[in-house]
Amino acid sequence: MSKNKERHYKAEKVIERMGQKLNRQIAGSLLACVHCGNCTDSCHYVHANPGDPTYAPAYKADRVRKLFKKHFDWTGRVIPWWVNAGTVETDEDLEELKDIVFGKCTNCRRCSINCPMGVDYATFNRMARGLLVSVGVQPEGVAVVSKDQWEIGNQMGVLKEDYLDTLEWMEEELQDELDDPTVKIPVDKMDADVVYSINPREVKYDPRSIADAAKIFHVAGENWTMPSEGWDMTNFGLFSGDDALGGSVASRLYEKVTELNGKTLVISECGHGYRSTRCEGPNWAKQDVPYVMESSVDTMIRYIKEGRIKVDKTKNTTPVTFHDSCNNARSCGLFEEPRELLNLVCTDFREMYPNRSENYCCTGGGGAMSMSEYTPQRLKSGLKKAEQLKESGAEVVVTSCHNCVDGLGDVIRHYEIDMKVTQLVHLVANALVIEEKVSVPVEAPVEAEASAVVAEAEGLPFAGKVVLVADDEPDQVEFIATVLEDNGATILRASNGEEALALARSEKPDLLTLDLGMPGRDVGEVYETIRADEDLKDLRVCVITGRPELRKLIYDRSVKKPEGYLDKPVDEDRLVLNVRKVLELT
Ligand code: SF4
Ligand code: SF4
Repeated sequence: MSKNKERHYKAEKVIERMGQKLNRQIAGSLLACVHCGNCTDSCHYVHANPGDPTYAPAYKADRVRKLFKKHFDWTGRVIPWWVNAGTVETDEDLEELKDIVFGKCTNCRRCSINCPMGVDYATFNRMARGLLVSVGVQPEGVAVVSKDQWEIGNQMGVLKEDYLDTLEWMEEELQDELDDPTVKIPVDKMDADVVYSINPREVKYDPRSIADAAKIFHVAGENWTMPSEGWDMTNFGLFSGDDALGGSVASRLYEKVTELNGKTLVISECGHGYRSTRCEGPNWAKQDVPYVMESSVDTMIRYIKEGRIKVDKTKNTTPVTFHDSCNNARSCGLFEEPRELLNLVCTDFREMYPNRSENYCCTGGGGAMSMSEYTPQRLKSGLKKAEQLKESGAEVVVTSCHNCVDGLGDVIRHYEIDMKVTQLVHLVANALVIEEKVSVPVEAPVEAEASAVVAEAEGLPFAGKVVLVADDEPDQVEFIATVLEDNGATILRASNGEEALALARSEKPDLLTLDLGMPGRDVGEVYETIRADEDLKDLRVCVITGRPELRKLIYDRSVKKPEGYLDKPVDEDRLVLNVRKVLELT
C-alpha cells in the first residue's frame, strides 16, 4: 500500500468512527454554537495569548465541528461554504488536529459553563482525542501512559512489589510516629467498611499522603483496607478519549472491591480519579456499582462530624487558599465540601477569585502533564492561574487533586511565586488530636469492687469502668457485653431508650454504647436528654448501629456529638480499639 493510501486510510477511519461516537449530547453541542464569542474570555489559553484567535474555544471547536458538518449534517452537504464544512485527508491534517485537541485545550470545561447555548466543547474535544488515538495519532506521552495503564494496571507503571513495599514502609513510619506497633495499613482485608484507592503518584512521589490517610483511618478506628491489585483509581481513558481503556481500568477497581466485599470505596484526593471512578466509570465499564463511592474529603468531614477524630485548627495557622480542581468542582459539584473541611482544620483560609465553577485550570488538566511537547504553551497558559495565586495573599495553595498539585507546582516555579502546594489529607493529619497514652491507675482494693480490682490487677484495659450497653437485639448485647467484660468492664444492659436513660441516671456508667434503631422512645430524644443532664455530663457515648441512615437522629442535633461511632457488624478488635479511644485509655 502506498504511503498516500495509508494516510487516507487513517483519515477515513477517523470519519467512520466519528459516526459511531456521535450521540445526542455531542451532536447538540456540535450544532448549537452561534459564534457569539461569549466563551472566548473563559479560556486560560486565550488570556495568555492575546490577539491569537486560534486559542479561542469556538475556533478550536470549529476544527472538529467542520468534520461533523461535512459528513453528518445536511447543511454541510447543501451549503458547505456557508457552514464552514471540511474534512481531514492526510496525516498532516490529523497531526494538525492533534495539536489542537491535545495541545490547546485541557478539557477544563470552563468555556462550557459560560456558553449560553449549552455547547460543551470539552466533551467533543475528548471525542476527537479518542478518534485520533484509535488510529495511533497521539502525543508520545499519551501512548506511554495508556500502555502502562493497560499492561501494568496503573498510570505510572508502578510494580505490585513496589506498591506493597511502599505501604509497608509507610506502616512502619506510622508505627514509629505514633509509637504504636499495632498501627496497620491492611491489605486485601475482607469485609472492610472502607476500601481505600489511590493515585499511583502517591506511591511514586508522595507516599506521605498514604501515611497521612492511614493515620486518619487508624485514629478514626475505621475497619479499612487497601487492595493489592486494581488499586489505581485514576483513569487515563478520561484524557485520551479511549472509552475501552476507561471501562477496563474502572472495572478492575470495581471488581476488586466486590471481591473484598468492601462496603464503601473511598477515593483519595484526585479530581480526574474521582470523576472517572465515581461519575464516568460505570458508563464506560457498562456495569452497576453496588456499593457507595465517595471522595476522601467527604470521609474526613464525616469523621470529624461524628466525633471519630478530633482536630485542632490552631495546628495549621499558615494562610491558605484553595484551588478547585476542574474535574472535582465543575464536573462533579464538589464545591463546598473542601471548604467546610478547610475551615475545620485551618485558622486562615482565603478564597482565590474567581473560584468554584469559575476557577481557572491549573494548566495540568486533560492529561497535559504527560504531553511534554506542549509544555512551553502549557506554562504560558498559566498566566491567569499565577495572577489568581498571587492575589490570594496566601502562602500555601491547597487542592484536592494530585494532578493539580503538579500543575500548580509548575505554575509556581515558572512564575516565581513564593508559595507551596499541599492537599487536605496533610492538613487534616497535621491537625489531628491524638490522646497521649495513659496508664490505668490501680486503685486500693475495696471489697465491693473486688471483680474490678482483679481485672485491674490482671492489667485488663477496661478495669473499673462501667459500660451501659443499650441495644434491642439480645445477640448484640451479649456480644458487646462479653467482649467488654473479658476486658475488665462491668456491664449494665438496656433494651430501649427509656431503660438506658433510667440506668444512666441511677448507675452513672462511664460509657453508653447506643444502638440507634431501638423501639420505644426516639433514640435521638433520649440522646439529647442525656446531653442536657448536668449529672451525666461525664458520660461518654459510642453509637453502634447497623442503620447508618439513622445517624441524623443524633448528628443533626445541636448538642455535643457522641465520642465514638461504629457500624455494625462490629468485630472484637474494632470494638476494643474504639472503646479504648472513647474512654481515652490509649
Ligand atoms: S461555544 Fe457558546 S459561547 Fe462560545 S461562541 Fe459558541 S455559542 Fe458562543
Ligand atoms: S475546555 Fe478549557 S481549555 Fe478547553 S477551550 Fe474550553 S476553557 Fe479552554
